[in-house]
Amino acid sequence: MRVLVVEDSEPTRLLVVSRLAKEGHDVDFAENGRQGFLKATSNQYDVLISDIFMPEWDGFKFISAMKVVSPHLPIIVVSSSYAEKELRDRLHEFENIVEILPKPIDFNILFNILKTIKVQTHNAIRKMARIVCTIGPASDSPEMLGRMIVAGMDVARLNFSHGTHEQHEKTLNSIRKAEKEWGKPIAIMQDLCGPKIRTGKMPEGGIVLKKGQFITVQADPVEGNSERFSTIVPEIIPDLRLGEPVLLDDGLIELKVVTEGEREAECVVIVGGVLKSNKGMNLPVTKLSIPSVTEKDRKDLEWGLKHSVDYVALSFVRSPEEILEIKEIIYQAVKGDIKVVAKIEKQEAVEHIQDIIDVSDVIMIARGDMGVELPAVKVPRIQQEIIRMCWESNTPVITATQMLDSMTHNIRPTRAEVTDVSVAIRSGTDAVMLSGETAVGVDPLNVVRTMASIICEEEQYSTGTERRYRHFSHDLQTNPAIMAAASMIKSAATMLIDRSGKLYPQMSKWNRKVPSLLVTRSLHVARQSSMYHNIVPIIIDNNLTRDEMLLLAVSTAKEWGYLKPGDVLVVVEGGRLTQGDIPQLGAFQLVHVE
Ligand code: PEP
Repeated sequence: MRVLVVEDSEPTRLLVVSRLAKEGHDVDFAENGRQGFLKATSNQYDVLISDIFMPEWDGFKFISAMKVVSPHLPIIVVSSSYAEKELRDRLHEFENIVEILPKPIDFNILFNILKTIKVQTHNAIRKMARIVCTIGPASDSPEMLGRMIVAGMDVARLNFSHGTHEQHEKTLNSIRKAEKEWGKPIAIMQDLCGPKIRTGKMPEGGIVLKKGQFITVQADPVEGNSERFSTIVPEIIPDLRLGEPVLLDDGLIELKVVTEGEREAECVVIVGGVLKSNKGMNLPVTKLSIPSVTEKDRKDLEWGLKHSVDYVALSFVRSPEEILEIKEIIYQAVKGDIKVVAKIEKQEAVEHIQDIIDVSDVIMIARGDMGVELPAVKVPRIQQEIIRMCWESNTPVITATQMLDSMTHNIRPTRAEVTDVSVAIRSGTDAVMLSGETAVGVDPLNVVRTMASIICEEEQYSTGTERRYRHFSHDLQTNPAIMAAASMIKSAATMLIDRSGKLYPQMSKWNRKVPSLLVTRSLHVARQSSMYHNIVPIIIDNNLTRDEMLLLAVSTAKEWGYLKPGDVLVVVEGGRLTQGDIPQLGAFQLVHVE
């Protein structure tokens, strides 16, 4: 059997490992619960044997985390406090514990228990690509958020198309609480809805639109009826031109403009259906004069800046100027570093994609509206092309929308959805996003777990970075130290000391094989790095010299299970000014871990 022994006492650990190995088991070990979690989620074991009182994560925390990610993986607890009833009562609450044994261990009993354990298949879930989860009523409690963090959530998305500022504040506090509990920095992305055009109020049950019927869209609010309905963005009416399509409810209903006007436009129904209140309206060919940053966006952004969000996403981007405008507002307000995500969903954005990538911190391929604004058949190629361009620019890219859509209602994804996630990972996306699946779905934890296992499976076959590099047409602006570190795939990890914050985006793109450990003093930088593929932040907030900081980071990485004695560690350091203001060049160092 493949057994993982999680035990901090060295003599006990050595004894258990050697007795199990002698019995013919395939044994591995970890020195604390956090290390145990990393190992148990990176490899496949048939059974775990765990101590309870350990440094870093104790046995309770380790077992709770395992219950989240692999609820059926059996655990045998060994504890010298076995005699304490209170401890046994607490452990009995975990269904994944199959037996509690006292110390010193009676090996005959242990071997007999192992014989009764049925071997099952468990998916490893330690992944490098990132999962962005939209948070909503199904997932906004600190308990659920904690479980989603353990299962692989890296970025929490607050969707400002829905909810009040009070609701978002409550969610944000819950995310911060869960983040603290599990010690994993989580980025918060505020998604501004931009000029999202929607229909106005409709009667209960909506209105029925039949093919060939005429219907007027008007600026002044009115409850919809068989002759007219209104829109919540009246400014669009004078922009509508004869013959232009008006798509409603995700493109399910289609109208065509037959009479233009300043306050109303008459349309004919091309594809009918039932139209309800507040449904999306897409005008794929209309030249819109409304700004991309609306009054509502400005108010929402003010809230976001006050609440220290890490990312701001802008919807319906049309040009790079809009990203620069948002960046200027952020800069004037906080002078701090809040990264901006451009959501690509409009034809104009696709046309100006390189210019938009050049000024954005992150790109989101927002396939939902993109598939209505543009013919849906174009989406796959656009996705692939944007991912490729983001590689050339060292810009992280999120592939979003409907990835596991059926799991909003079902407990299993469709095979087509599994393939969609796999293909996005294979193409080189840095992150994948969940929307309704985690915001309002039946089982958000199960969705995150499923997404993590699909990523993990695909990443086993991921293409080496050098092969990808060969496909690029021009020389890339990538630091040679990063390229060298990324090629050392036999090292245990790469450690990055990056005071400027400019290197880790490159490291994230290029080092796709071994963990990239980002040493930082800032919790905010650590949170932001959660958007970046394969970056593991280590926060060292003491005021230490460079060498002391490196030693402390190495010892933390050992404690967490990323390094062990005998490993080779690659250290990359950006240029800096020393304490005496002397410029020092960047460094590339190979460290033999003791
Ligand atoms: C999308 O349209 O794909 C998207 C991510 O945006 P939203 O969820 O805001 O509609």
